[in-house]
Amino acid sequence: NSRVRHRFINCTDCGPRFTIIKELPYDRPFTTMAAFTMCRECKKEYESPGNRRFHAQPICCPSCGPALSLLNGEGKAIASSDPLKKCVALLEHGAIVAVKGLGGFHLACRADDAEAVARLRLRKMREEKPLAIMVRDLSVALRIAEMGAEEKELLESCERPIVVCGKKEGAGLAANIAPGLPTLGLLLPYTPVHHLLFIDGRFDALVMTSGNVTDEPIVHTNDDALTRLNGIADAFLTHDRDIHVRNDDSIVRVLDGKPVLLRRSRGYVPDPLPAPCDVHGCVALGGVLKSTVAVGRARMCYLSQYVGAVATVEAVEGLWSLVHHLLRVLDVSPRCYVGDMHPQTLMRPARSGSELPYVKVQHHHAHAVACMAENEVRGNALCVVYDGTGYGLDGCVWGGELLLAGGSDFTRVGHLAYLPLPGGEAAIRNPGRMALAALFTKMGEEAAHACPWMPDEEKEATLAMARSNANCIPTSSMGRLFDAASAMLGICKKRTYEGQPAIELEGAADIEEIGEYDQLVTASDAEILIDGAGILMQAYLDFKAGAPARRVAGRFHSTIARATAEAVRMAADTTGCLDVCLSGGCFQNALLLTRIVRNLKSAGLTPFIHRRLPPNDECVSYGQLVIAGARRMESR
Ligand code: FE
Repeated sequence: NSRVRHRFINCTDCGPRFTIIKELPYDRPFTTMAAFTMCRECKKEYESPGNRRFHAQPICCPSCGPALSLLNGEGKAIASSDPLKKCVALLEHGAIVAVKGLGGFHLACRADDAEAVARLRLRKMREEKPLAIMVRDLSVALRIAEMGAEEKELLESCERPIVVCGKKEGAGLAANIAPGLPTLGLLLPYTPVHHLLFIDGRFDALVMTSGNVTDEPIVHTNDDALTRLNGIADAFLTHDRDIHVRNDDSIVRVLDGKPVLLRRSRGYVPDPLPAPCDVHGCVALGGVLKSTVAVGRARMCYLSQYVGAVATVEAVEGLWSLVHHLLRVLDVSPRCYVGDMHPQTLMRPARSGSELPYVKVQHHHAHAVACMAENEVRGNALCVVYDGTGYGLDGCVWGGELLLAGGSDFTRVGHLAYLPLPGGEAAIRNPGRMALAALFTKMGEEAAHACPWMPDEEKEATLAMARSNANCIPTSSMGRLFDAASAMLGICKKRTYEGQPAIELEGAADIEEIGEYDQLVTASDAEILIDGAGILMQAYLDFKAGAPARRVAGRFHSTIARATAEAVRMAADTTGCLDVCLSGGCFQNALLLTRIVRNLKSAGLTPFIHRRLPPNDECVSYGQLVIAGARRMESR
């Protein structure tokens, strides 16, 4: 067969699709395969109704399809009789190779070579964030990771996501792949090239991390790869089939016995989500971190794939190109834009020429409605939204919110009591500052004894800010409270990637621990408050008295879960509302999520969580779209 070991083999059930489509309908001339003319044999198969490649748009064979090439950093071909074999040899000896996949480039190196992994981290400026591992097959996965039936099924599913599994110690992987974490992100090969990298058995597992510069979108064109990944990759395994739209790997974790998406991209987009009302022509521009955009068509919401933090010009441009791509392929003309109410949001409709209405939505309201709409919860729901940051109605940084939400509006019925965020961004990077300032509100100068690892200078500067309350923005962020607890226990002293302190706190917690601290939930006529600093102080005193960090971390999780359920129960008593939706990045924490869900159920309430969308800011555009549709319907 001419397709033995063909690098671009595909049939009607597999092969590239979403990332090569330029226009609809999905026909070869409207894809990036238009550049390749089918040979006689391929054309015959393409036109035979009984053939497995009948109307397989990317059909090709070695004589008429795309070709692989292996390039050096200058973009010159590396001499070899077979680029793929040469690439395997380079990888085997510790090289970092940029490998072109379906939706962009990966950076690959051996997963058992700590020196190569360290070099990759240094060049990519990615200090500690875990790296995904591609393994040859399921047997390798089972050797290096703890997996239940759900994880196995996800790993082998046709969506081929990265699956977060438990790490097995001593399995031969480099220790710097997921430092400080008990988990690993694994995926199986999903293109012919991936399979062929492993076929000769030179290695069992490769690091396969997105080919990007930190926080920028994944690189997807050959030119971009050679410029942006220059100096990171030693070589480039590329080909001449263009990727029209970038699409990163999706990430899934099993929470409470079922899968939850942590990143929704390849394999899952562009499946639409339902809207409870007409959202046609609404264009949602998403949140701030981990954003997506969404376009409404009739009563369906089409969300884009994950692009990256919306902090760089490249990411903003990347999101806008997805807006235009979605509008074009869905054949929808925009009628209104929806965005975050933050005055400095980067995603805004161009000032020139746009006469369309611009609808502003509060960040946590969007989270709440996203979870409601996904679960088809009608009317009002009590919504717990725990995340890092969102611009609040009072100008403060919100992020530990209990809302009574409806489709078009919401009431803030409770929240995490405000904590000082000393020095703003600096307190996010250095979570010890957050811990000291929070403890200071409860213990005054005694707080100086916490975080003994902090440099004196930084400690004094933080306490000075706490004393004078200068340069301290009030925040109700649950993410920041978890940061504080993680730093207070000496688990994460410096944040090098988003969510790191909380992820490591969860990883360190003893899940068998059943002790709890006092919940400290109070209700007044105005609002329900959870005293996060008070809970943190109890944890600190416990730790100071000699309790091990893992036990304190377990108790802290249980206490927050108990306090949350108690606050929701109080709100349910006054509102009569029993449906509870959970959203926000903090619900990527399995321990927190499962305990809150359990507590809510035993209080007689009905919890709903995200399953089809990530609970993090990727779901915000969906909520925005539904809110814009609901407001438009009401104004008619
Ligand atoms: Fe958020």
